[in-house]
Amino acid sequence: MELRKDPITRSWVMTGDDPAEGASRPETVCRFCQDSPEATQLIAAVPSTAGWSARSVVHPTPLYHIEGEPGRRGDGIYDRMSSVGAHEVLVENPRHDRQLWHASDEEIGQFLRLAAERIMDLKRDPRVKYVSLFKDHGPNAGQEFAHPTSQLTATMFVPRRVLYELRAGREYFQGKERCVFCDILTQEERQASRVIEARGDYVALGPYAPRVPYETWIIPRNHDASFERTGLSKPGLRTDLAALLRRTLQRVRAITESFHLVLHTSPNSLHPSKTLGYWKTIDDDYHWHIEILPVLAAKARSYTFKEVYYSPVSSETAVKQLREAKIDG
Ligand SMILES: [Zn+2]
Ligand SMILES: [Zn+2]
Ligand SMILES: [Zn+2]
Repeated sequence: MELRKDPITRSWVMTGDDPAEGASRPETVCRFCQDSPEATQLIAAVPSTAGWSARSVVHPTPLYHIEGEPGRRGDGIYDRMSSVGAHEVLVENPRHDRQLWHASDEEIGQFLRLAAERIMDLKRDPRVKYVSLFKDHGPNAGQEFAHPTSQLTATMFVPRRVLYELRAGREYFQGKERCVFCDILTQEERQASRVIEARGDYVALGPYAPRVPYETWIIPRNHDASFERTGLSKPGLRTDLAALLRRTLQRVRAITESFHLVLHTSPNSLHPSKTLGYWKTIDDDYHWHIEILPVLAAKARSYTFKEVYYSPVSSETAVKQLREAKIDG
């Protein structure tokens, strides 16, 4: 497998003929449970009285490999490089049946702390441009493991969606000297029609132009480009964000079982690019957040013409339902 760049959209694509594709065997024994006979290679753990509360291990079939050089090179007008990077599984909880929406705020807080530490650590590698944290849950979202897990990838490039956000954030800042995410939050809190819930310094809301029905963002009120910086310096993240994340996932799951969750944080500003302009102002114009994209079971009609999203439930209606969803505290 290798990475190829589309010269028009500038997005990187992992492609090749993967012999493992389709051959993955079903999980017989959970390799992420405590004392699993199918051990995975431990990277880091948050200690607790019971051994560990959250930990990170090497992905059993990683998309990216630490060894080797990315070897970015031209191919005529094209760009390619090998899939060098890191791919980790974050085990959110030692218990097999405690998904984030069933866990205690303390447990979710430990998981968030682990995530912040791992992102910080991976960014010490000067080759790493970006670290993605994501969770795919449910049969329609490509869930990989039964155990409560999220995944981390460290890549030598910034993923396309984040790149769009960085460019848009910078343009907005150049015109107004304000952060677009701070401005969105101010307006949403004033209008209140798309705010699902606020908890301490964190707000869950439905975006003005959702890509899918019930799309939800969680944004911190305090401006910070970097999740890991907030995570390691502000303890509120581990209580208020933990509670809001748990409650928001309960609301989403009242609508549908499957969802994608992704954290958007700043690229590796410990080792900024010297040539790309948008790296210079990231701390001012970018603002970390979490995006949750629910996957509805029945895709009755799709009007998605590839790049135009069709979302047949308005954010205002979705937010009303999510606010009223029955959650258990
Ligand atoms: Zn398990
Ligand atoms: Zn901001
Ligand atoms: Zn985003």
